[in-house]
Amino acid sequence: MNGVDIEGSAAWQELEKYRRIFYATPDYATFSNLETGKFIDVNPGFEKMIGYKREEIIGRTAESIDLWVSEEDRASVVTALKHSEKVFITTRFRKRSGEIILVEASAATFKVQDELLLVAVVRDITARHQAEQELLQYRHQLEQLVAQRTAELERAMERLQELTVHDELTGAGNRRDLNDKLETDREFFERTGLPFCVAVLDLDGFKAVNDRFGHTIGDAAIKKFASLVKTEKRAMDYFARYGGDEFVILLRNIGAEEAIKPLQRICDAVAEYEWDEIAAGIQLSTSVGLAAFRRGESADQLFSRADAALYNAKTAGRNRIVGAED
Ligand code: GH3
Ligand code: MG
Repeated sequence: MNGVDIEGSAAWQELEKYRRIFYATPDYATFSNLETGKFIDVNPGFEKMIGYKREEIIGRTAESIDLWVSEEDRASVVTALKHSEKVFITTRFRKRSGEIILVEASAATFKVQDELLLVAVVRDITARHQAEQELLQYRHQLEQLVAQRTAELERAMERLQELTVHDELTGAGNRRDLNDKLETDREFFERTGLPFCVAVLDLDGFKAVNDRFGHTIGDAAIKKFASLVKTEKRAMDYFARYGGDEFVILLRNIGAEEAIKPLQRICDAVAEYEWDEIAAGIQLSTSVGLAAFRRGESADQLFSRADAALYNAKTAGRNRIVGAED
């Protein structure tokens, strides 16, 4: 190479091996003089990538064909090669056609007969880079879509929650639904003047069931209690679980005196039920506080009076109905 007459020698044969690799590699590969910057040899990969034929480029410089898009990048490689034998850079090259391509270039210096040579291997990564960018963009879009769908799902779940009116365990109305119904009823009976009662029911000694038999049996007992109430209550009356072992019945078009009848039916059904069917040894009853609606009072006031009556039913010995004072 470069007029060095070593053909036939072991060194030449060694060099021949590298020349073959040089010509065969699909990447761009060039030899140039480090000082003058002139190309000494270029391979077919260079010709294909940049668009110049070997014979028209040898003896010219990268600057003369305006190869580097960024003069800064070119200068940084030249500077780096003063301190290091190898340099790697991602930069942009200009093809003969003017098209700009993104490349990964590695350059290394070595000495041949006092001449400092530069070998450069360059790979066109434009397509790979573009594919990566597209992938990134696609991933970003996908993430946005997932976030959007998650937010929609959360909103839907919230709406669904708001629409839920039943207590999960017993199927009775839930507390939010109870509040709605209580207010609607209060308005209706305020307007019409018809009688209306609120009963608050609480199981007697229920904590002991949980303590003795465990939470699962406790749940089964609460469920059974709710089903007994549903069977015994009047069809028009609304039944809800207030929380824990406390339930509420809204008795419509009925005064306190008459309301005692369906409530007593419930108390009897609970006290007489064969609780052993749920677990041997359980015995349950229910206490009830009853308040008749007074026109002009709020739903809270009405409920509080029924709750206070329930407290009186508990202190009076349980398994009974106690009415609120008029
Ligand atoms: P009292 O006669 O004074 O009502 O006594 P009690 O033992 O029934 O006591 P209280 O009503 O204050 O306690 C109710 C218990 O119900 C407290 C809690 O451990 C239990 N509990 C509340 N919610 C649930 C539930 O969903 N499942 C079960 N298994 N237990 C519950
Ligand atoms: Mg209780």
